Formats: sequence, structure tokens, C-alpha cells
Amino acid sequence: VMSEETLSFQAEVSKLLDIVVHSLYSDRQIFLRELISNASDACDKLRYEGLTDPALLEGEAGFTIRLAVDKDAGTLTIADNGIGMSRQELIDNLGTIARSGTQAFAEALKARKEEGTDLSLIGQFGVGFYSSFMVAEKVEVVTRRAGEGHGWRWSSDGKGAFSISEAPDATRGAAITLHLRDDAREFLEEHRLRTIVRTYSDHIAIPVILALPADKDDDDDSDAPAEPRLETLNEASALWTRPRDTITPEQYTAFYRHVAHGFDEPWHTLHFRAEGVMEYTALLFVPKDKPFDLYTPERKPRIKLYVNRVFITEECESLLPSYLRFVRGIVDSTDLPLNVSREMLQEDPRLRKVRSTLTRRLLDDLAKRAKDDEEEYLSFWSAFGAVLKEGLYEDFERKEDLLKLARFRTTLSPTPVSLETIAGRMKEGQQALYYVTGEDGDALARSPQVEGFRARGIEVLLLTDPIDEFWVSAVPSAHDKPLRPVAAAGADLEALPLVDEDGAKKDEAPATEGDKLDRLIAALKAALGDEVADVRASSRLTDSPVCLVAKEGSLSPHLRKLLSQANQ
Ligand code: ADP
Ligand code: MG
Repeated sequence: VMSEETLSFQAEVSKLLDIVVHSLYSDRQIFLRELISNASDACDKLRYEGLTDPALLEGEAGFTIRLAVDKDAGTLTIADNGIGMSRQELIDNLGTIARSGTQAFAEALKARKEEGTDLSLIGQFGVGFYSSFMVAEKVEVVTRRAGEGHGWRWSSDGKGAFSISEAPDATRGAAITLHLRDDAREFLEEHRLRTIVRTYSDHIAIPVILALPADKDDDDDSDAPAEPRLETLNEASALWTRPRDTITPEQYTAFYRHVAHGFDEPWHTLHFRAEGVMEYTALLFVPKDKPFDLYTPERKPRIKLYVNRVFITEECESLLPSYLRFVRGIVDSTDLPLNVSREMLQEDPRLRKVRSTLTRRLLDDLAKRAKDDEEEYLSFWSAFGAVLKEGLYEDFERKEDLLKLARFRTTLSPTPVSLETIAGRMKEGQQALYYVTGEDGDALARSPQVEGFRARGIEVLLLTDPIDEFWVSAVPSAHDKPLRPVAAAGADLEALPLVDEDGAKKDEAPATEGDKLDRLIAALKAALGDEVADVRASSRLTDSPVCLVAKEGSLSPHLRKLLSQANQ
């Protein structure tokens, strides 16, 4: 008797499955795209490993994804002949929350629960394999890892536990069998499957084949079991190899969701062929929504590298700078050798050239989008602007381009505006562009630090992203104007006239008599002692009696706070 072992799902998975089963009804046909997407990834992985170890292919190098329906049993099977999973991989991949998308989902779930808000929004997150439980009361996975002697059967009803037993006869790859719920029998219908595959998985480069029961032909009275009819449902050519004008926006979106594991729409699509030192095709997407892990240290640029349509790696960090790590997509080269190691790839000088071209094309496109529709552009900027600003100190070569793309909230404009706009409406006699950094834009706009600027009708940039503290020191000027913190303003500010609300010049307030002021300052210094470095009269204040500023050359209070948070 083959022994069967029962294991518990990680607690988070159980919670997630509970939600998946009960609240994702509206879009549940997406389970099929998730399973086909996994099957395609599995074939890609084996194709790559087969390059260095051809024995893994076991003489069977043609990859397929097969769908089979058994109406009597009420099952739908999605089978691939890809890499498969070892016993441990089954436990790790289908028993825990391993990948970031699912992790993000779980976190959002936690946050939403605490706030007590609507759970229907969770449809926007990917739950990958676990989405099969939207339609199945029981899921079985029979799999054999390429190169291993025998396989494993994983099975679960999605209620807290799964079991694993040996499957001696399993063929290479993975076959996922869904025992469909009574209310999900629609997924046994061929026309339904055909439509779903064409809608969501047409771009998959591996044939998705539907096996149909053989026609019961009256003339055929042989006893041999009839062979099923096979129908290929998708185009099965890599989407990026097709001419642009033959690809619909829906097809681009479906492909984006496959490569990005995303559920949103691409905000921008860049698809081109390059010739030169290296010949390649690039298909890149800027997502619409901000991914949850954008600021985690493990978040790297994730462009999939292919060589002649063979998937090589997703970890080719050299293809884009880190400040473009929100971009997803693929690069397919015709020139690199297939057996190139991932390590060598990181060093190939041709890839540096590709990186520079991709960066330039992306930044050019962003500039175009900003020119075409500023409002649309601002939606991009609010999602990814803070990341793009990292380039201001990381990429000297692109600093000017990035400054043009940057948008800032100011004391005069709650809607972020460009430096060009701000520089274009500087006051006569204004020497520099001024900024103030802090956490909260509203508080900064009201703070005494900017009073003297307001009183003179001078616009001040309100910088509230943590990253702002870091790039400002690398950008001494913009649009030919010095860029200065408000604290650095002195005589230049005093020289400008005070204005009233309509911008008309106001009479100067009478200056406090010199010796009275000196006495006040001396008294304050005596009272405060070592608590302060200095006490000075300032033209930066008009209504408030006093304001605290950082000593010149020292860390700003905001930066000091950020650093102490990071050290915790
Ligand atoms: P993702 O595809 O985003 O990694 P999934 O939940 O869809 O997340 O799948 C989890 C993991 O399970 C995959 O990363 C992969 O390692 C493994 N897996 C799923 N389906 C297959 C399959 N058909 N063949 C081999 N491995 C698979
Ligand atoms: Mg997946």
C-alpha cells in the first residue's frame, strides 16, 4: 500500500483559500489563465535547463499544454510536459505563500480586514494556483520533475490540508485535475474553454491543445478505442514576434498580465525591434498600479530575457537601471548564444548597450506621454515618480531628462507641476528655486519655514518623498537656476518686496529697533543655552514669532528622522 501523508497548509494559505472560495465569484474564469500561465512557465524552465542538460528532455523536446474534459467525472485537466515538481517543490510551491503577488494579496487582505472594508476589491490581485479553488471542490496534481524516476500526487479540498503520495507512473511535467463544483460545470463545455483561452491565453507561445472525445462515427465498428480529436486553441507564437499592427490592446494586456503576474492594465506599452551591436526585440510595459514590493530591497528590475524565443532568465538585472524597476516585459535577442550562463550575461557589454537603449526609449516615451496628456501623466507620476527620482542621483547621464519628467507639489499648486513651469513663473529678482522637505505636504505649506516666501509671493517646492532628501544634494541647479533649501535663503529673500494676496506690493512692516532686537536675542540665547547653536533675526518669518531651522551643512530634521527610522 502506497503511503499517503497529510500536511497542513501554511496558516496564511488557509485564510487565503477561504476568501478565494467565497468572494472572487465575478471573475472566476481567470483560474484557467493562471493554470495555463504556470504550465507555460514550467515548459520555459525545462527548455532552459535542457540547454545545459539535454538528458532532462528525455527525447521529448516538443512542449504542449493539454486540456481534457471528462463530463461523467465532472473534471477538467490541464496537463503540461514541462519541468514538473519534486516532492519538496510541491510542498513549498503549493502549500505556502511563496510568491510576492500572493503575499501582497494576503497583506492587503489583512489590512482590509483591520479597516473592515470591502473584500470585493481583492479581485485585482493574483492568487495564481490557488485560484483553482474558485471552481473546484477538489484539486489533484500529478507531477514528475524532469530527470526524476517517479512522481507525486498532491491533492486537496482546499480546507486546511493537502495530502501527498507517490505516483509511480506519472509522466514528466504536471497534470492539474479540477473536480469542478456543481455551479462550475460550465467549464466542461468546449466552447467556453475555447473562448477563455482565446481571450486570456492566446499569446502563450506553447500550443494549448483541447482534447475532445472522439466522434462516435456510425460507420466505425472497429473495437479499438477511438483517439480523441485535438484542437489547438491559441495562436501559439510568441506575441512579441508578431507585427505590432496585428496585435490588439487586449492581447497586449493579456500578455502583460502573464509576464508581470499582474491584474491591472499596462499604462504604457513599448514594443520595438532594434538592430545594431545587438539585434533584439523588446516588449516593455509600465503598469498602471503600484506593485506592493516596489520599495523592498529584493525588488529588482524584472525583465525576462529570451534568446531566440527560448526563455533564459528573469534575473537579468543589467537590462534596466533600478529606478525603472517598475517596468515589466521581455527582451528577446537573436545574437546571444543560447548556452550563455546567467552570470556571464550580467557582464556582457552588449547588454549594457541594450540597457542604455531601453532606458532612453522609456524616458523618451514618458516625456511624450507627459506632453500629450499631463493629467494622464500625473497618474503615472503619483504611482512611480518617487522611484524615478532615484535616478536623479544614480544616473548622472539621464539627470536632465529625469528633471524634465519630475513633477512637484508647491506652495502655489497642490497639483504637481514641472520645474519648467515653476522656473517660468519665478518672481523678478528671485535668485533661486527654493524647496522644503518634510513628511506632510499640507503641514509644510503652512509651516513658518515658508512664511517669508508666501509673504513675497515666491513659490516653494514641497518635497515629501523620503527619496527627496537624497537627490537634492546631487542636483545643485535645475533650469539654470540654483536649487536651494528654504533654510539657505537670506539676503536674497530680504531683497524681494512683500506682496498682498493679489500680488501687489505692500509697505514694509517697520523694522524692530536694532538694540531692542539685540537684547531679545541675547536673552533667548541665555535661556536656551546649549539647546540651540544660534539665535538669529530672520526675514523668513512674517506672522510666526519663531521657527526652528537646521544649522547650515547639517542634516535636515526630516532627514535625521528618516535615518533614525532606518536604523531601528
Ligand atoms: P507564480 O506562478 O506567480 O509563481 P502560482 O501560485 O501560480 O504563482 O504558482 C506557484 C508555483 O508553483 C510556481 O512558481 C511554480 O514553481 C509551481 N507550479 C505551479 N504550476 C506548475 C506547473 N504546471 N509545473 C511546475 N511547477 C508549477
Ligand atoms: Mg502562476
